[in-house]
Amino acid sequence: MTCPICQAETVAAYRPFCSKRCADRDLARWFTGRYAVHSTDPEDVERALEETERHLATGASDTSPRRH
Ligand SMILES: [Zn+2]
Repeated sequence: MTCPICQAETVAAYRPFCSKRCADRDLARWFTGRYAVHSTDPEDVERALEETERHLATGASDTSPRRH
């Protein structure tokens, strides 16, 4: 089995991907589609990946919504 992102050999821990990086990249690609950024430009994917990581970072530690 190979990683759908980079075609490297899959690592069981990150199946079906080869690494967290590729798993995140796939998630970012999903986010990109969700926000209808109709671009496959690597820079847009990188930006989406950063947004995803930021979202996950804040979402993971923030269990109680705080609004002002
Ligand atoms: Zn990969």
